[in-house]
Amino acid sequence: MICYSFSVFNRYSALDAGASLPDSEENRIRALVKLVALVSGTITFISLFVFLVLKLKAGILISACAIPFYLVSFYFSRSIPPRAAANFLILSYITHISLTSLVFFPKEYGFQYCLLVVPALIWLLFGKGQFEKPLYAIISILVFSIAEYTDLPRPIITVLGHQQLFHIFSILSFCMGMIISMRFFVHYINKDNSKLSQMACTDPLTGLENRRFFDQTGELDFENMRQAGKNLSILMIDLDHFKSVNDNYGHDAGDNILKEVGSVLNKSFRSADKVCRYGGEEFIVLLKGTGPHDSLRIAEELRQKIEKLEFPAYKGLHLTTSIGIAHMTDTDRSLKEMTLRADKALYYAKEAGRNCVKDDQNSSVAIVSM
Ligand code: GH3
Ligand code: MG
Ligand code: MG
Repeated sequence: MICYSFSVFNRYSALDAGASLPDSEENRIRALVKLVALVSGTITFISLFVFLVLKLKAGILISACAIPFYLVSFYFSRSIPPRAAANFLILSYITHISLTSLVFFPKEYGFQYCLLVVPALIWLLFGKGQFEKPLYAIISILVFSIAEYTDLPRPIITVLGHQQLFHIFSILSFCMGMIISMRFFVHYINKDNSKLSQMACTDPLTGLENRRFFDQTGELDFENMRQAGKNLSILMIDLDHFKSVNDNYGHDAGDNILKEVGSVLNKSFRSADKVCRYGGEEFIVLLKGTGPHDSLRIAEELRQKIEKLEFPAYKGLHLTTSIGIAHMTDTDRSLKEMTLRADKALYYAKEAGRNCVKDDQNSSVAIVSM
């Protein structure tokens, strides 16, 4: 059961990089209710076992009554609205610990310390302005104070003993609750951050990485390739007369065609290469370890592939592309310099009538053996 609790926790901890949006507040609360119900249920189950061994009837009674409530909370974490599930769990927990520390056991057992984890939990479980937050915080601190600082008689005590053992056990349980709360909090912050930075670097239409990603990571690739003495080439790809595609077939058609081209580009390059949507109907590819001859051949193959694309849904549509190429030279000091030259090469390709490949020396790819 303990292993299962931790495996569930680890499952929440595994970053789900594929998801596109940060988790909703709802999913987060459900996950925490499930986790707390599981951990509390497990600890109560262990306590029940220890109470049985030590023949502490008060403990056996309260633990046996509490376990079903944690099981139901676990079930509720998926089946009812998250706020209701969180209320059920926290009420069960406060009632369980309050009865244990106010009615069944004297303060020397230290069970009241388990109440101190409640403020941290409700801070994670309930949103801003929800009345449960102050209510449960006040109740838990009030019950803790009564249990810790008064000597009220405990009505249901049968056989007693092993105070120190349970005192340590309670403090350890409190620490564990705090660690879980903090880890949960940090985990979700990290998860959200990683999803947000992924979103910031991804083009939502084509699913390719965007210009921000290219600019941020490309300079490092440039530096690595330069230091390793390897080749590096850039292809700047621009769809020809794309405005007229929108004008003749509509903006939605334009979007679908951009998606299709994005998918062709994605499939046409090695995973080590960097394929990004640079803006509008413009794409950029960083070919690592690829020299002038190969990059010209690759660009020409791509140009022909796009020229041959068929769009059955858009009758009469014929798509072509112009490609500008720049290669890394000894004098290049940054990727930006290379990108500007690729842009210049693209300009030459447009000037030459489009649907062709040019490098920054205005040399075209005349005949390329395929
Ligand atoms: P050129 O051959 O000179 O590149 O001509 P062009 O029409 O492709 O270039 P221009 O810069 O004049 O127009 C680009 C067009 O691309 C206009 C714009 O509406 C379209 N476009 C840019 N981004 C998107 C997009 O995300 N979706 C759609 N549907 N169209 C887009
Ligand atoms: Mg264009
Ligand atoms: Mg353009």
